[in-house]
Amino acid sequence: MDTRREFLEKSTITTASTLVSGVAFAQQAAPHAAPNKDWYDRPMRWLQLAFVEDDPGNYDPKFWLDYFKRCHADAACISAGGCVAFYPTKVPFHYRSKYLGDRDIFGDMVKGCRELGMNIIARTDPHALHQDMVDAHPEFVAVEADGQPRRHWADPTLWVSCALGPYNFLAMTDITIEIMKNYMVDGIFSNRWSGSGMCYCKSCQTLFRDYCGKELPRTNNPQDPARRAYMSWRENRLFDLWRLWDTEIKKINPHAAFLANAGGGALSNLDMTTIGNLAPTLFADRQARHGLMPPWAAGKNAKEYAATLGNKAIAGITSVGIEEAYRWKDSVQNGDEIRLWIADGVAHNLRPWVVKFNAKPIDKRWMPVVEKFYGWHYRNQKYLRNEKSLAEVAIVYSQQTAAYYGGPQASAKVENPALGYYQALVEARVPFDMVHDLLLEPENIDRYKVLILPNIAALSDRQCKQLSDYVARGGSLIATQETSLYDEWGVRRKDFGLAGLFGVSFDGKIDTQVHNSYLTIEKNPADGTYHTLVRGLENATRIINGVTWIHVKTTEPQKYSPLTLVPTYPDLPMEEVFARVPHTDIPGVYVRERGKGRVVYFPFDLDRTFWEVLSTDHGAVLKNAVAWASRGQQPLTVAGRGLIDVGLWAQKDSITVHLVNLTNPMAMKGPIRELVPSPPQKIRVRIPRGKTVKSVKFLVNPAAPQHTLSNGILEASVPGFELNEALAIDLA
Ligand SMILES: [Zn+2]
Repeated sequence: MDTRREFLEKSTITTASTLVSGVAFAQQAAPHAAPNKDWYDRPMRWLQLAFVEDDPGNYDPKFWLDYFKRCHADAACISAGGCVAFYPTKVPFHYRSKYLGDRDIFGDMVKGCRELGMNIIARTDPHALHQDMVDAHPEFVAVEADGQPRRHWADPTLWVSCALGPYNFLAMTDITIEIMKNYMVDGIFSNRWSGSGMCYCKSCQTLFRDYCGKELPRTNNPQDPARRAYMSWRENRLFDLWRLWDTEIKKINPHAAFLANAGGGALSNLDMTTIGNLAPTLFADRQARHGLMPPWAAGKNAKEYAATLGNKAIAGITSVGIEEAYRWKDSVQNGDEIRLWIADGVAHNLRPWVVKFNAKPIDKRWMPVVEKFYGWHYRNQKYLRNEKSLAEVAIVYSQQTAAYYGGPQASAKVENPALGYYQALVEARVPFDMVHDLLLEPENIDRYKVLILPNIAALSDRQCKQLSDYVARGGSLIATQETSLYDEWGVRRKDFGLAGLFGVSFDGKIDTQVHNSYLTIEKNPADGTYHTLVRGLENATRIINGVTWIHVKTTEPQKYSPLTLVPTYPDLPMEEVFARVPHTDIPGVYVRERGKGRVVYFPFDLDRTFWEVLSTDHGAVLKNAVAWASRGQQPLTVAGRGLIDVGLWAQKDSITVHLVNLTNPMAMKGPIRELVPSPPQKIRVRIPRGKTVKSVKFLVNPAAPQHTLSNGILEASVPGFELNEALAIDLA
């Protein structure tokens, strides 16, 4: 059987020339000179204007160009075509805005932005079709499982397109070529290009049958062979489309690219390592908080993208509106919420990108907020062009675990454990990155002292070997729950792939929904001391357990476990609430020395339960595990009260310490009401060996920092701050 990686690398390359329908374009010269090459790393601040159909003739381009200039924006994304064309298109049935007349509002903005020296990319959106296109090409429409063509869910006058068939491969290719030829933009950014739900059209049926001989699946179960084949086929098909559009774009402007709206963390469904290779730059499209999302989610996007894009520039798209299921697209969030989202992204190396839908703004309160933040960013950009993260801890994320082990429950089974460990590290102020599980080569992971595997259940033999080798080279691992108990296709193994590292083997049983179970805090019987793992819990006697318990057998002796199980007992009636077995020697954690490396394995859902319950005791154990596994101080420590998200970055001749103030009564439920100033903090930063400190300054507070330097550690006091503070350390 192919490994998952081989599947991803297999691709049915189709040449564009056989596909493009060959619309004759006016061969006029582009209105402006072709942009310079290697532009992808240049833009530091993006603004996006997403037109609505009645913008032509009704909005003021000068209003926006003046705003772009005041914001020091150096790149723009402007709507061009797809669902609605905002330029005089000649592609048959490419729907022109009925307000367009003989105008070219896209072209006007291209010209204006070029005059400001900005890079410019065109936005297309292929997901919705107008009636005349559908009348001419019924085969462009996505089809439901019952054979009915799919109406648009939000606008019933429109139809939903099939992303994997002739509409994208033919018509959208023509539109892409036309935009490139007419405007020579720096790239085409396509929104909702990858489909809107499963499609059962004739093209999908035929292509899928040709691919694997099977009929399209009618289940979401990733263990169904047809479903599994479909997941690979769809992914390959979309990457073929990506390569097709990119090839056609580069034929016209070799310095331009197809820039997909794609990517994300474990729950995203296109392989991030392929995306990391294809994309010269990328935009993290998580526009604001919603539901119970904490404000650090913007930074998490940054870390997930950086895991496979490395040093390529990544912009973080922020909407000025409210991002909830009800889609109030003309709304405006309060300014503090907007700037907190942007600031957290910037602290983790996102370049800010603000999007406004509708060029006739109703509520303009967001405009001075973004202008002020962009002004700060512009003045300090030397310290925000980050080259290297100095974090020594990383959380691993695994798309294959989400797809094949998590399936329809991926959010609960795969994402929630990661969110729990993420929250614990933010609370502990540990600088950390994220790592993609298909990139476990030494050059990607050896700069970390500790890798955290939050229920990374599905790992191949090769990945397990890579992790074992990492530990043999001196790295440390922290793993929870079912980590490595399944292969890369989500099929359960007899034993953990990492059994040798954990020093345990699977005992064949998993208890779920365990109520009223506890963990006893144990002393080392040899000397009466407590392990680092339970630091701060010495007086607790017992702490709460998780709710999923993996039965394991110890395969090598452990002197003692710092935590032991108190099995579940009745929680009602109250007369019956007493432990039937008050103490066992069943370990709640396995701590192992492995040469220079250390391994911590929790046979339960500590991280997931922390995300659900947020018990400070669980937070302490998660944090202590990192402290023990990393053998010593983090390169940055921040002492003081409150919830502060930290980032630590190096530029060529400087270091930037980022502090983002998340201390807020609304921290775990947005949008926030107001920013509450952070109490003062004390920073300790390790200065890289061989470097000396030239000067130190704050990037927000105008005062000079009080600081001392000894033994390669710089200590600085940070006075209270409202939104964010950054300490810039110039080195020589
Ligand atoms: Zn289809």
